Amino acid sequence: MKMILKEETNRAIEKIAEVLPAERLTADEPMSRHTSFRIGGPAACLAVISNEDELSAVLRIVNEEGAEYMLVGNGSNLLVSDEGYPGIAIKLGGDFDSIFADENDDTLVHVGAAKLMSSTSAFLTEHGLAGFEFASGIPGSIGGAVFMNAGAYGGEIKDIAESVRAMSLDKCEILDLTNEDMDFGYRSSRAQKGDIVILSAVFRLSKDEPAEIADRVSELAAKRNSKQPVNFPSAGSTFKRPVGGFAAALIEEAGLKGYRVGGAAVSEKHSGFVINEGGATCEDVLAVMRHVRETVYEKSGIMLEPEVRLINCEL
Ligand SMILES: Cc1cc2nc3c(=O)[nH]c(=O)nc-3n(C[C@H](O)[C@H](O)[C@H](O)COP(=O)(O)OP(=O)(O)OC[C@H]3O[C@@H](n4cnc5c(N)ncnc54)[C@H](O)[C@@H]3O)c2cc1C
Repeated sequence: MKMILKEETNRAIEKIAEVLPAERLTADEPMSRHTSFRIGGPAACLAVISNEDELSAVLRIVNEEGAEYMLVGNGSNLLVSDEGYPGIAIKLGGDFDSIFADENDDTLVHVGAAKLMSSTSAFLTEHGLAGFEFASGIPGSIGGAVFMNAGAYGGEIKDIAESVRAMSLDKCEILDLTNEDMDFGYRSSRAQKGDIVILSAVFRLSKDEPAEIADRVSELAAKRNSKQPVNFPSAGSTFKRPVGGFAAALIEEAGLKGYRVGGAAVSEKHSGFVINEGGATCEDVLAVMRHVRETVYEKSGIMLEPEVRLINCEL
């Protein structure tokens, strides 16, 4: 069934077609192709933006028209509705997929929002810059990681972010935000107010031998592979860590390991992950999440909050 779009969104898409090359504007793009869950119906359109001028041109259009839009990073923390998203999904590429060392300080590195954590880690390892190892196995982009203050194995983006370059969504102004301005918290940042696009980040690292860094990256990868259901599509930890506990432990204690609806299940390997065992719909995942939340609440009095960002759907 075709989604009914607001007139504003249709008009914005027509105008965006005048500023973006056709190959970077796709109508009815299945979001399942852009999410690690491999779930999600079509976005009305996907616009891939390759530089700041294009971004401000597109933002001005969506603002003027009052069209619905969202930013998509690498889609590794998104659950998109089966109906899809009735707006414009904006993805950064091109110039935003960049990484380079600072000219004046060889422990600072500038990384574009579209760069993946894995390739950032590979660059830093090769250049003998340590401090990013914790993030090497997180399957997101730098933009998504800053937005989420992604973290693992005792580290988080907050620990290394010197500054963040962003664009305001309403006026398209460039903002240079300090670590403090970013107001990082557990899986949260100032970007979650929803008024900026992250363009790039500057990370402060420390010098070390490439071989030593590579060893630590491999060690963490082995840990991740042994503990997490990396062979199934998922969005990582489904729920945030509640105060005073761990979501996975609470889910396991509630007897929910392996609980499944349709193609979605609580992973047998790591109860903190809901996985797509094959052909799961968004509704299947939501049904698992609802049951997990209710059961954990009944057993422990703790209401788990989703870490996964829900797009056009709700619990
Ligand atoms: C197997 C697996 C393991 C994982 N392990 C971890 C882990 O150890 N630690 C952890 O923290 N997370 C983990 N995650 C979750 C996920 O990888 C992180 O949250 C990641 O930071 C999301 O980045 P992304 O680019 O995929 O963002 P997306 O999922 O595409 O988007 C996430 C949010 O960021 C916003 N966003 C994206 N880019 C921008 C931008 N440029 N400007 C403004 N907003 C933007 C989006 O609008 C959305 O709201 C895991 C996921 C998987 C699938």
